[in-house]
Amino acid sequence: MSAAVKRIRPKDPPPPEYAFGYLDPPRSGNEINGLGERQWRPATAVFHNAGSAQLDWQALDDFFGLINPWRVVRHVVANAWQLRKRDGPVARRRVEADPADTSERIKDAARGFGADLVGIAPVGPDAIFAGRAPPHATAICIGLSMNQEKMAHVPHATAAEEVMRAYRQIARVALRLARYVRGLGWPARAYGNPNSTDILHIPLAIAAGLGQLGKHGSMISKEHGSNFRLAAVLTDLPLAFDEPVDIAVDDLCLGCRRCVLDCPPDAIFNEKQWVRGEKRWYVDFDKCIPYFVKTHGCAICIEVCPWSRPGQGPKLVEKLMAKRSQR
Ligand code: SF4
Ligand code: SF4
Repeated sequence: MSAAVKRIRPKDPPPPEYAFGYLDPPRSGNEINGLGERQWRPATAVFHNAGSAQLDWQALDDFFGLINPWRVVRHVVANAWQLRKRDGPVARRRVEADPADTSERIKDAARGFGADLVGIAPVGPDAIFAGRAPPHATAICIGLSMNQEKMAHVPHATAAEEVMRAYRQIARVALRLARYVRGLGWPARAYGNPNSTDILHIPLAIAAGLGQLGKHGSMISKEHGSNFRLAAVLTDLPLAFDEPVDIAVDDLCLGCRRCVLDCPPDAIFNEKQWVRGEKRWYVDFDKCIPYFVKTHGCAICIEVCPWSRPGQGPKLVEKLMAKRSQR
């Protein structure tokens, strides 16, 4: 355990202006994330971590684990336990089929196991953490919607319990799907969030056509807004890729400030920022994460977003596309 971790007192957190007892504040998360950088480079892990490396913001991540009640933590522990089976034996007989047909088969299987969202994409350099080498080149991205009534409690342990339940459930779907793929004779590994050490789920899911990035820094899907959690299965099974979708997220985000105004620590930039060579929506890590940690994962921004209202997404897409065609 690092010196910084020892200084944390879970029952007596320091005030926000002196975030969580760091005698030596960590290097800015924005700097680590590449805020302001116009050159492309891969993302660097900074916070959630299932590996052995000590990340710059490790102490705050550990603190996050310490202050959550057991009803939240039990899902985290159970998820970590089930994900020990992320790899497994591969069937000797290899099924060879048309990639488009196999993709449909895989998507049907994923939905049958309980996924609400599913798409397929190559594992591109934007979705791989620096220094990591994912074992397979194709990602089957899956998402599970969360219970809106429970999420309405944000920022509170009741919502955190629902978030961790969803992570555990969607990881279970990923584990079943990986086993299914291995049964077809191809290697496959299940990845569950939030501690996927090799890959970034959001860029992968966007490439797989599950949604677009919103101003609040989370992905927005047509079906569930940002009210879902992601997991993935990486494999070498030949599959047909999906394309990124245009559901007009920017058309709304450019004129909407709801998440910006409702974010308690003012962490959400109203304008797109340069981040590692791409101009995109970005959340100020150094402002968000201390608040996120002390409020059981916050999530106010995703719950106030109009896309997250049940049944709203398809209507919004229709309205925004109609507006766009009039311009
Ligand atoms: S609240 Fe508004 S600005 Fe923020 S992500 Fe949702 S639509 Fe975009
Ligand atoms: S999670 Fe909370 S603190 Fe972080 S950007 Fe969203 S509203 Fe702001």
